[in-house]
Amino acid sequence: MPALLLPEVLEDLINELGKLPGIGRKTATRLAFYILETDKDEALSLAQAIVKLREKIGFCSNCFNLAEGNICGICQNPLRNKKILCVVEDVTSLIMIEKTNEFNGLYHVLGGVISPLDGISAQNLNIEELLPRAKQVEEVILALNPSTEGEATSIYLSRLLKPMNVRITKPARGIPLGGHLEFVDELTLSKAIKSRLDI
Ligand code: ZN
Repeated sequence: MPALLLPEVLEDLINELGKLPGIGRKTATRLAFYILETDKDEALSLAQAIVKLREKIGFCSNCFNLAEGNICGICQNPLRNKKILCVVEDVTSLIMIEKTNEFNGLYHVLGGVISPLDGISAQNLNIEELLPRAKQVEEVILALNPSTEGEATSIYLSRLLKPMNVRITKPARGIPLGGHLEFVDELTLSKAIKSRLDI
């Protein structure tokens, strides 16, 4: 269908939806028509959910986990062990580790891994914020995804952390190389977190 035939507001929505990852123009058009033709309340509640998400949820200023407000629920929890810090690549990894119930310390979400091919350098990650936190703990677990970039980032971080006299560990073997924590079964991840190896 030629774009000019569509009302401008519909065209705008198609353009916005088309910016989402994995959504091409064809899918964006299909979704826009679905939203147009669906029950009005349903369409409005979708719009409100997006607005609410962006207004209420941000990132914890301490650990970069998702947070309603300035500090996330984990950082606020007085029962968490503040002497142990688990460094993860993203919030998905944090959730996977939380699900194992094997870890009771605090987290630090890097926001990615160093990947020169994707133009991601150490400066693009929350590494600067990690260093002062690492000084205050007894152990830092580097639980990055076991991809090539994840391994390289772990080595980079362990070099930065070494002079701080902190115990540096990583989850024990069992996590398949090249995998993402998201796809590791809970029992394997649980065992890997429980029995850690010193770096
Ligand atoms: Zn936090």
